[in-house]
Amino acid sequence: MQSPNFEQKTFTDSDQTQNLAGPPSSSTPIVACPDCDALQVLPRLRSGRSRCFRCKGTLERRTGRSLDAALACAITTLILLFPANLLPLLRLEYAGVVSETHAGSGILSLWQEGWVLVAVIIALQVVILPFFRFGLLTASLGAIYWGIDESWIGPAFRWSEKLDAWAMPDVFLIGCAIGYSRLEPYAPVVIGAGGWCMIAAALMAMMTRASLDRRSIWRRIKAPVASFARAEHLTCTVCDLLLRPDAAPRRCPRCGQPVWRRKPYAIDCPAALTLAGLVLYPVANIYPMSTFSSRFIHTSHTIFTGVTDLVHAHLWPLACLVFTASIGIPLLKLVGMGWFLLSIRMGSQKRLVFKTELYRVINEIGRWSNMDVYTIAVFTPMVQFGQLARFHAGSGTPAFLAVVVLTMIASENFDPRLIWDAAGANR
Ligand SMILES: [Zn+2]
Ligand SMILES: [Zn+2]
Repeated sequence: MQSPNFEQKTFTDSDQTQNLAGPPSSSTPIVACPDCDALQVLPRLRSGRSRCFRCKGTLERRTGRSLDAALACAITTLILLFPANLLPLLRLEYAGVVSETHAGSGILSLWQEGWVLVAVIIALQVVILPFFRFGLLTASLGAIYWGIDESWIGPAFRWSEKLDAWAMPDVFLIGCAIGYSRLEPYAPVVIGAGGWCMIAAALMAMMTRASLDRRSIWRRIKAPVASFARAEHLTCTVCDLLLRPDAAPRRCPRCGQPVWRRKPYAIDCPAALTLAGLVLYPVANIYPMSTFSSRFIHTSHTIFTGVTDLVHAHLWPLACLVFTASIGIPLLKLVGMGWFLLSIRMGSQKRLVFKTELYRVINEIGRWSNMDVYTIAVFTPMVQFGQLARFHAGSGTPAFLAVVVLTMIASENFDPRLIWDAAGANR
């Protein structure tokens, strides 16, 4: 088989002198792509975005991004999280009985029904981690904005970025919207003060992500030791700092991330988690996600029948959204991860750019699968009217949540550079 001709951009010592003139600086324009490990000069941008010459991944995006806007959005989100969690989200009146739900009500109901692990995971994703994410982000961006130079800023910003995928006020909002749309035709649902704050917090969380350019933030955080760039290099995958090849295993001096040539167990761990997800996926689809009982009817819903119910209620956009998030995305994640692992094992040299792009998509959208679980967390405490009507989480819920969480951990622990290594691109 003919070996593909990988485009190479090598850097000579004179390039380094040109790029790293003067004392070594944390603002070096040479970066190694975190997805394919191609070493390249990062152009200084005022607008637009720069892409990796090899895998086409976005390296830096400047349009609409600024430290001031990101800091303002992060502070606003952090402030809004307090009333969003303390005040009532939704209020429902059914047969003369009034029911109110808070962000923590669903967690408490699931805990009381015996779904302890599900309750703990939702509590982390919806209540606890958003405070940590936006608290750390506010502290680190604020310190950079006011010119504070402390060693904690790098690790604080790294953790805030790490928690971005796991803190989910925006996904919770979509879950609430689905719950609201399904209840509204049967009983009047009123959005409470906490609900409006949750909407604002979720929108501001999205605005924070949209206005933040992590690469330009990292350039503003000083690296305490000299960076080093040549063909034999090690890269911190979090802050792009280039390090001497003898650096591993140790922590990045700027962000505190352990630095390895490639992530440890980047094949075994994702393979085991993907396999576990593959076993649980049919369980999550066969068993009911929820049950509803009243004086006249007793029904249970799987993920698929939940989608058909939305279709029958003529809520087509929501039906498409739930089908994509709850059935399509988990399947795409399982098939995609299986494909990456298999192609590494076989040393495949085909569709490397497509596989890397697919990996980025999988890593980015995986969190949105949680919305169906959040709908149940909103429903459960609201529809508790004694003998009149009761709503419970079904045995499919923990299996489905496990699929979502396991595949998220699998894609986070996978190292896409191995796809390029296996094809011989990084020799
Ligand atoms: Zn790349
Ligand atoms: Zn780093």
